[in-house]
Amino acid sequence: MSAAPSTLDILVTGCTAVTMDDAGTVIEDAAIGIADGHIVWIGKAAEAAALPKPANTVDGRGRIALPGMIDAHVHTGQQLLRGKLAELSRKQPLRMPPWKNYYIPFESMLTPEDVYLSGLVAYTNMILNGTTCFLEAGGPHPDEMARAAEEVGIRGFVALSTVDRNTDFAGRTVPGSMLMTTQQAYDRNVELVRRHKGAGKRVQAWLSLRQIIVCTPELTKSLADVARQEGVKIHTHLAEGTYEIDYALEHYGARPTTYLEKIGAIGPHIHAAHSVILMPEEVDLYEKHQISACHCAMGNYGIGIPRLQEMWRRGIPIGLGTDGAASAHTMDIFQVAHAARIGQAAQIGHAYHHRTPMSAEEILKVATRGGARAAGLGNELGCLEAGRRADLILVDPSDADCWGAQDPFYIAAHCILGRDVRTVIVDGKLVMKEREMLTVDMNRLRANLAKGRAEIMARFDAVVTA
Ligand SMILES: [Zn+2]
Repeated sequence: MSAAPSTLDILVTGCTAVTMDDAGTVIEDAAIGIADGHIVWIGKAAEAAALPKPANTVDGRGRIALPGMIDAHVHTGQQLLRGKLAELSRKQPLRMPPWKNYYIPFESMLTPEDVYLSGLVAYTNMILNGTTCFLEAGGPHPDEMARAAEEVGIRGFVALSTVDRNTDFAGRTVPGSMLMTTQQAYDRNVELVRRHKGAGKRVQAWLSLRQIIVCTPELTKSLADVARQEGVKIHTHLAEGTYEIDYALEHYGARPTTYLEKIGAIGPHIHAAHSVILMPEEVDLYEKHQISACHCAMGNYGIGIPRLQEMWRRGIPIGLGTDGAASAHTMDIFQVAHAARIGQAAQIGHAYHHRTPMSAEEILKVATRGGARAAGLGNELGCLEAGRRADLILVDPSDADCWGAQDPFYIAAHCILGRDVRTVIVDGKLVMKEREMLTVDMNRLRANLAKGRAEIMARFDAVVTA
């Protein structure tokens, strides 16, 4: 229980709160008081009678309250490409790697309005799955992502796709519209971050470097310097392909993480998606410099041996991510968490004859507390605790897939999927109530999606897949 607040915007009553705090506290018949975007009180509903009258009450009976999920690596601009590569691969072998051959060419054709639509679709999809915060990898027209995120009511950090080296790879180079000079790349990144800056602002921007093979050392170093000055992170992809390791060894004489150290770009401002193909000494660098990582379970097990358990237990800030709808097919972090558990069991469990190297409960903690730390908001998000920002979800454990189970923490970690999420609060505001999106006209969005996707795909087919 916490000290009584003087006013309340929302009081959630009667829920079972799986707080995800350090002690693993679960509060039956709980109440959660929210004011000014923060959780100001959490405790037994019976003790909430003395609280001030709330402006709004949310009936949480029969629901489990959890902190919102955090998607620590997503590509907003690829949302409308969902399913396209699978469809193509049934007709012809795909060119590798997909990000250079399909994703960047796709992004290069998107207009600002396309990205705005993509953002509305992606963030609505996230809210419907209980994701309350996203970390964008870097795509075209990030101001339009921010506009969509503001409108949908989600928390997030947008970023610009940043490429200043036109590395020829697999016979395909980066489209001109996605390529910048080093100076342009620096200026556009810094201006973006400054445009969206503001303490506690729900939607902000980070710096971005697409990947070390398409970014010069000069840009990498200068963005690291400005990240330190501005107090923001650089979102990048690291240790995600054998081609990348070969490139780094050939051009920089070092593996990717060691290269970042060598040029003075390493530090807690680096957020490195995937982080799979790592030597033990590179994992040491992650720990020493507190580089944050994102485990994209839907794709990482096809890359190599992801060290989720090792990184998490060594205190490296690591969260879970979808990698976007085009790669992961789903935007549901609960599904990503289940895949992560099985992946770790197949990989480390097998080697050590240990069936469950990471429990589902521990992985749910990665998705919430870990994601919060990766976002640089370890003390503000990821946990239902007085003083933290009010980003929380109410899930419905009444589906047959939960029948028979008693323990709410078990149910949340093993049985719940994004589709069981009923109500979502972000920054102290109701964004979805009993599956009704309060911020988005769903019929209009569906119509705009159908129209927009057909137009964009016609362009993509003409240029990329012909
Ligand atoms: Zn990615």
